[in-house]
Amino acid sequence: MPGWESFPIEKTEEFQVGLRRVGKLNSELEKHDIIALTDAEYTCMNPALRLLGLASMKQCNSGDKAKVFYTYQAYLKSKAEELADDIRFAKTSGFAMGVKLVRGAYMVQERQRAKQGGYPDPVNPDYETTSRSYDSCLNLLLNEAALTASEQHELQDGEASSKAKASGKPGGIRFIIASHNEDSVLYALQRMKDLRIPKDCGTVFFGQLYGMADHVSFVLGMGGYSVYKSIPYGSIGETLPYLARRAQENKAILTNARRERNLIMKTLKDRALLRG
Ligand SMILES: Cc1cc2nc3c(=O)[nH]c(=O)nc-3n(C[C@H](O)[C@H](O)[C@H](O)COP(=O)(O)OP(=O)(O)OC[C@H]3O[C@@H](n4cnc5c(N)ncnc54)[C@H](O)[C@@H]3O)c2cc1C
Repeated sequence: MPGWESFPIEKTEEFQVGLRRVGKLNSELEKHDIIALTDAEYTCMNPALRLLGLASMKQCNSGDKAKVFYTYQAYLKSKAEELADDIRFAKTSGFAMGVKLVRGAYMVQERQRAKQGGYPDPVNPDYETTSRSYDSCLNLLLNEAALTASEQHELQDGEASSKAKASGKPGGIRFIIASHNEDSVLYALQRMKDLRIPKDCGTVFFGQLYGMADHVSFVLGMGGYSVYKSIPYGSIGETLPYLARRAQENKAILTNARRERNLIMKTLKDRALLRG
């Protein structure tokens, strides 16, 4: 598996325990029609999460539709190469790849830890580099989606279909473009159009957190695109720190919140007028 060679040997036993527990969870997943997303966290945890994510995909994504997704953080250096490696691995191993693409939530803490630990900062030097990396990953995923879409198109043409079905061809890709950034969403929509990826292909999803960038989610949903809204669930003690992190990482949150409030008020007024 990609990433295994750099996995710390002293953590192998702990990792195997995790693998068994995730394996049990995956067995349940296989019985139900649901999608499970593995988050990416701090760089000290990511090597294990990546391996667990890939192992789970190998276990659950044997069909043409991914049920398990792993998360790729574009703010980390060399993320696009890692994503390309994992897509290649999925293809050669014959399972479908599931990806959640994010910019990354722990920039401040990663920089602090790197400084304290005396190792190089793993995060890109500036926002523009992160956005370029996000676009590179996005293009990689969309090119794969275009390939899948054209294969599906071929599959609908009788003969090719029976041939592929006979060989039980697995694989393919499914991904979530998880971002509140309107430019990123607009760029993805334009690339989908350029590459002729149908909006209802079941391969490309857009993702926003519940209560954030709702106007983006609504417009996408009304336009026929698939949208995933992430809802924090749990006790106040568990969910408040989560919400505080979200507020911290979204630098433009206050400007956006004001704009979103105005948009909601406008929608409410429009709907009241329509009813009246
Ligand atoms: C559905 C969903 C699921 C998510 N799951 C995860 C997850 O599993 N793991 C995770 O880490 N995050 C996750 N996030 C959070 C995500 O990583 C971003 O922090 C958040 O979405 C803000 O990025 P943006 O693209 O929406 O907005 P933007 O405002 O365009 O981007 C802000 C982001 O840019 C990057 N950035 C800002 N300044 C700099 C700088 N100076 N140098 C380098 N980079 C910079 C940071 O990543 C920052 O969070 C998730 C977000 C969503 C919507």
